[in-house]
Amino acid sequence: MKKLAAGNWKMNGTGADLAEVRALIAARPEPDCDMLLCPPATLIARMAEVARGSALRVGGQDCHAAASGAHTGDISAAMLRDAGASHVILGHSERRADHGETDDQVRAKAQAAIGAGLVAVVCIGETEAERDAGRTLAVIGGQLDGSLPAGASAATLIVAYEPVWAIGTGRTPTLAEIAEVHAFLRSRLRGLIGAEAEGLRLLYGGSVKPSNAAGIFALPDVDGALVGGASLKAADFAAIVAAL
Ligand code: 13P
Repeated sequence: MKKLAAGNWKMNGTGADLAEVRALIAARPEPDCDMLLCPPATLIARMAEVARGSALRVGGQDCHAAASGAHTGDISAAMLRDAGASHVILGHSERRADHGETDDQVRAKAQAAIGAGLVAVVCIGETEAERDAGRTLAVIGGQLDGSLPAGASAATLIVAYEPVWAIGTGRTPTLAEIAEVHAFLRSRLRGLIGAEAEGLRLLYGGSVKPSNAAGIFALPDVDGALVGGASLKAADFAAIVAAL
């Protein structure tokens, strides 16, 4: 399967930062992997315009589970698609923490996203306390079971493993720990969606940078990365893309 380098800009970026996107496209016109950037909603349409005709895909960072209606400040999956998005990140730990998003809500959002023709990038991951308590696999297994939309397939769903304690901290699990979790996720997915699990992309996220990307990407069952800080600068993200 083709690997995926996905960038999550989080609450960063204005029109001036589209220069980085142009530089990324110029640096990696024909990457060996798929490339995705998920900017804030305000930039999706403009980034999609910059990316038109290139290998870069554009995604959202969240959507509402409803198709439309009285939900001030929210954005539907169909609106993301209309703006030029092909993917949407759902259930990121920052949304689970800042907005109290539950597995049930993430599943409903993923269902809506897939229904609107988007690929859902569902995020799961343990906290440091959960890892220290030896509960990593139990926690992410529960999140996976609870967040998986009905009828999910390799074409409509991507799962991103992002240990909460590795996000924005410069710390990562060991390669063995990442491999253990990804093997566990693949096996759990086989039980949930059968043969589709083989082609479903499992991303690692949390302090991925040019210096550690190649080692992480070489692991079995790691099909790409979800990159935060290092996706903001074209040079860093292009180096990560080259490592895939
Ligand atoms: P960092 O790469 O900045 O640690 O962020 C990871 C992340 O949360 C991507 O969604």
